[in-house]
Amino acid sequence: MTVNHQPLLTQADLLKRGLADLQEHDAELAQILDAEVARQQRTLSLVASCCAVKPRTLAASSSVLVNVTAEGVPGRRYHAGCENVDLVESLAIQRARQLFGAQYAGVQSHSASSANYSVLAALLEPGDTLLGMALDNGGHLTHGSPVTFSGTYYNAIGYGTTKEGLIDYDEVRRLALEHRPRLIICGATAYSRVVDFDRFRRIADEAGAILMADISHIAGLVATGRHPSPIDAAHVTTTCTHKQLAGPRGGLILSGRDANEKVPGRDVTFARVLELAVFPRMQGAPAVNMMAAKAAALGYAMTPEFDAEMQRIRDAADVMASEFQARDYEVVGGRSENHTILIRLRANMTGAIAEAALEHCGIVVNKNRIPGETRSSFVTSGLRIGTGALAQRHIDAQGCRQIVDLLCRILDQVTPQGDNEFTLDPALRKQFCAEAEALCVKYPIADYLAN
Ligand SMILES: *Cc1c(COP(=O)(O)O)cnc(C)c1O
Repeated sequence: MTVNHQPLLTQADLLKRGLADLQEHDAELAQILDAEVARQQRTLSLVASCCAVKPRTLAASSSVLVNVTAEGVPGRRYHAGCENVDLVESLAIQRARQLFGAQYAGVQSHSASSANYSVLAALLEPGDTLLGMALDNGGHLTHGSPVTFSGTYYNAIGYGTTKEGLIDYDEVRRLALEHRPRLIICGATAYSRVVDFDRFRRIADEAGAILMADISHIAGLVATGRHPSPIDAAHVTTTCTHKQLAGPRGGLILSGRDANEKVPGRDVTFARVLELAVFPRMQGAPAVNMMAAKAAALGYAMTPEFDAEMQRIRDAADVMASEFQARDYEVVGGRSENHTILIRLRANMTGAIAEAALEHCGIVVNKNRIPGETRSSFVTSGLRIGTGALAQRHIDAQGCRQIVDLLCRILDQVTPQGDNEFTLDPALRKQFCAEAEALCVKYPIADYLAN
């Protein structure tokens, strides 16, 4: 018998071939992908959840690990052939634990929503009471909204913010003592101030509740010490990996000092419950390539470069909040203490119009509800602005001021027609587009993507 000694293909060979193959045999798809790369470089994203992954993370997410089925956890799989997968998952777990100072880390969740569902399903019985931040006040859908599992399987009670836009901790305590929830969720999607996790824990302890923190929006600031960490304050912490952590679409489940404590009323530890919460309760086999990409992103998150990026996020948010205030816009909550700035738009300007008009000019933002909101969530009276993508563009104070200036000048020139329609002089629009593109050129994403 003759053995063919052709050299084995490497990961790099496959990725290179894949790109060439796509160009050659599926030009239709290749063109769309290239158009998207161009769009991401040419538009100014002020979306609070937005960031770009490093090329190394992109490559890890495209790896051949996608071919492996690996139900179970490292060392205890239901499938053979998992020796490299075990190393990948162990590395991601070890980095997650190190980065967040956690005792327990689970890295298999396909998203933060599914991480949240896993935790809720594992710790609550259907019909149990859950206390989370109301969607209208900045909470996430999975924190008890009636359009999701969290609001239909559980008796979800919502807490809100004061009219200044700050979490109303007295209300949280009052609701917790009145309704005695099995679990309280803290953490938000549209909130610009620090979340007092210790205060939430005191309320949870007083009410006999488990505390879950969802840090999807602020995970990078938490990891680098720029926002207090909930890891030891909450029993369980969840986060997505694709916002500040600049990782793939996915979720993490973390636990600190309570990891090896028994779940109240049950003879099992939080760590064990959390492990089984994902597989087999919620998911089948994990996306191993995405666990590799999480490991890559978590590795980057431990570098001085990432630390500097998180500082730019904070600096930019401070400058932009003051610039809006200098132009007489109300910043909800009075200032930003993270990456988010919520602004109240002027009387006849709606969030829907502002979002659409800015997009026409090459600037991407989200409309958002604000305290005392009178309009629907499709219309809204506010804008949510985030500085994550700007930090990756190495934005400086001057750039931040130019962006706010451009944004305000665009809004000044837009004439609203009802809640959703508007007019904007086409010549002005062209000029605004050119200005936005010039800012993208002045602050390119290419440097961040260079390694
Ligand atoms: C974005 C976000 C999520 C959802 O993340 P997915 O991974 O897209 O499901 C969950 N919780 C909070 C607080 C978020 O901001």
